Amino acid sequence: MIINLKMKDNKEEKPYFSVVVPVYNEEGNLKELDNEIKEVMDELGKAYEIIYINDGSRDNSLNELKKLKDVKIIELNRNYGQATALDCGFKSAKGEIVISMDSDLQNDPKDIPRLLKKLKDENLDVVAGWRRKRKDKAGIKILTKTGKFLRRVLIKDVVHDTGCTLRVYKREAVKSLDLQGEMHRYILALLNWKGFKIGELETNHRPRVHGETKYGYSKAVRGFIDLLYIWFIQKYSQRPLHVFGYLSVFSFIIGTLTGLWSLYDRIFNGLSLNRNGWFFLSIFLGLASILFFSFGIIIDLLIKIHLNTSHYEQRYHIRTIIDTNRSRSDLDED
Ligand code: UDP
Ligand code: MG
Repeated sequence: MIINLKMKDNKEEKPYFSVVVPVYNEEGNLKELDNEIKEVMDELGKAYEIIYINDGSRDNSLNELKKLKDVKIIELNRNYGQATALDCGFKSAKGEIVISMDSDLQNDPKDIPRLLKKLKDENLDVVAGWRRKRKDKAGIKILTKTGKFLRRVLIKDVVHDTGCTLRVYKREAVKSLDLQGEMHRYILALLNWKGFKIGELETNHRPRVHGETKYGYSKAVRGFIDLLYIWFIQKYSQRPLHVFGYLSVFSFIIGTLTGLWSLYDRIFNGLSLNRNGWFFLSIFLGLASILFFSFGIIIDLLIKIHLNTSHYEQRYHIRTIIDTNRSRSDLDED
């Protein structure tokens, strides 16, 4: 099950490093990428596994992956997106240190040793790559800048580059994550919030040569919704009642004031209540106040139930897991 180029006999050895690589329509990049990764990892002199997650590629990526030696291929049954692919790889990683990177050759595996050194020297939990000189199109850069601004307002970002997949993590950090949607961009914010120590290091970024970027403009919208979700979760997942409690109290106070005002109008100006707009507003706000409070309690309970049961829910399905260093009967699922 464990892949290690240096393995002499058939004894299974626990890998020290897990390299996790999501793949979606990257047929032209995989062979070269695999060579580059192995070249760097071999030099580190410790057992390692390489996990490719084929995220429902529609091109020839799966066949290209099967040609590679000593790798683990997890084949998802459809395309779920980069965050889910990463999640799947993280969950099956067995190493003490987990390394994640893109499969489009834009990240440079040669940066891995420097990232690892920083992780160790400064005793961090994560070291993230920082693509200071990005080789992407102008439109994407503007989108990135806007996203960055929103993130700064809503959640506290700890590094310059939240989108660089090239990172090294301690095992505990990745195992604490549960990613979906466009959440890969908020991994560091989540980890920071959970108290993990994060560092960053400038890394090389190369232009894409084969295949196309999957980061379209529609993803920005989904990314924004995920950002709001994370903001909410970070701020109030412990006590959602607090958010709704504020709203409830606020409505109650304004409702009481407008109610008193309409009574004043009734007594001193002779304006009957059923002709006074303030009176209706106060009734509306009174009801809203009750509703907000009830929502708060319901959501509070739902979150408690969710936290207790969510790990039983399967968000994605794995078709097969293939170890290419194994012979014929290698289609096992675990
Ligand atoms: N990717 C994936 N599933 C997707 C989209 C992308 O696994 O639905 C992978 C893709 O193969 C690549 C990485 O995620 O390895 C980053 O994608 P891309 O290069 O398109 O994004 P960009 O670098 O342009 O932000
Ligand atoms: Mg890319």
